[in-house]
Amino acid sequence: MFENKKIFILGMARSGYEAAKFLSQYNNEIVLNDGNEKQDEKHIKELEELGVKVVLGKHPDELLTDDFDYIIKNPGIKDTHKYIEYAYKHNIKVINEMELAYYFLSKKDIKLVSITGTNGKTTTTTLIYEIIKRSKRKVHLTGNIGYPLISFLNDISNGDIVVSEVSIQQLVNLDKFKPDIAVITNISEAHIDHVGSFENYIKTKAKIFRNQTKDDYAIINMENNYCMDITKDINSNKMYFSSKNVADIYINNNSIYYKNNKYLELDEIGLIGMHNYENIMCAILACKIIGVEDKYIKEVIRTFNGVEHRLEYVCSKNKRKFYNDSKATNNKSTMIALSSFKSSTILIMGGLDRGQSFDELYPYMKNVKLVVAYGQTKNKIKDFCNKYNIKCNVFDNLLESTHNAYDNSIEGDIILLSPACASWDQYKKFEDRGLEFKKIVNDIN
Ligand code: ADP
Repeated sequence: MFENKKIFILGMARSGYEAAKFLSQYNNEIVLNDGNEKQDEKHIKELEELGVKVVLGKHPDELLTDDFDYIIKNPGIKDTHKYIEYAYKHNIKVINEMELAYYFLSKKDIKLVSITGTNGKTTTTTLIYEIIKRSKRKVHLTGNIGYPLISFLNDISNGDIVVSEVSIQQLVNLDKFKPDIAVITNISEAHIDHVGSFENYIKTKAKIFRNQTKDDYAIINMENNYCMDITKDINSNKMYFSSKNVADIYINNNSIYYKNNKYLELDEIGLIGMHNYENIMCAILACKIIGVEDKYIKEVIRTFNGVEHRLEYVCSKNKRKFYNDSKATNNKSTMIALSSFKSSTILIMGGLDRGQSFDELYPYMKNVKLVVAYGQTKNKIKDFCNKYNIKCNVFDNLLESTHNAYDNSIEGDIILLSPACASWDQYKKFEDRGLEFKKIVNDIN
């Protein structure tokens, strides 16, 4: 299917580069195009040496002709791009790197576990990967989490397990993709930029199950009506998790129950928050289906402190616990973080001003004894706190804010960075903000 063909790769980044490199093994004529000319020089040179025509910084009309067999598009590119519209009009097949990789993967005897959902994808994907790895099986961590599936193809052998996070953008152009185990963590109102409407968003999410047969498994959130609706008629073996009611795996009495037997107490778990217990239940189900022994599952769940920057436990200093939730760039995420703590909390927040209001945070502030605000939104946060009689200190940066939070804390307090704002007023990305926070915390004596 992908031999001796004419293939147009739209969007370079990591996945376009990997796709071009992989396909060049099969005598294909390949054009790689990206509107942004700032790409890795070493990668460009390597591809050119492999015979790939690399065109950067523009999208010339004449570059795409109707004799191409495929367009492999970066998941971030919309269907309204002129090349994609042209492709649909001229019956050029549009796929993405994941679908391409799946074509080759499907020829091997492997198990594919795919995780999608509005929230919790990265955490669940990482947990599943870590548990399987602990059991000493050969496992690959791939997909939206940052490692294109195609870059692993030459290393994947029969008997391996492939765990892949799948985003909504990736699902749009998946066709034959069929996981042995498909997990959907949840569906909620989300960015619909890529698919136009929430209805389309839900339909697109359902594609993860579309090709599954009765030999495959679907792991489904029983408390989410959208997830229940889209899985009504699928062929897969359905396994349910629930935070409230009896299911294949569920929460009751401060414990996780698997098939009605107590499996783990919530107090034994490294992660906190009901949302994370849901992610853990997905991971347990997926690993049980694979046949991973309970001791490995439990070992990882007891010690896993969270994916970096997502309600990540940093350390304890003089009996104050620090958490880094720098990925919380909106109110919703900060609300989830605040719901996860029962102890007295000092909340550090602030960042880019998008004209947002913070009012909806108020019902979640019961345990917050102090807010320390910084960044572009600091005065807005101060106004919000004044309105609801919440104590608030204001600073210019994270360093002063973290020190102030610490100075005002007592034994047993939680000190939480959950900014409810993007980081771009002071940082390039939320990861940089989280790293700085961890450094500041670790430097406290
Ligand atoms: P994703 O990869 O889907 O963006 P992450 O695992 O990176 O998800 O988590 C990002 C944020 O989403 C977390 O910091 C938390 O606020 C929220 N979140 C994580 N898991 C869940 C869940 N199961 N339900 C609701 N929200 C969640």
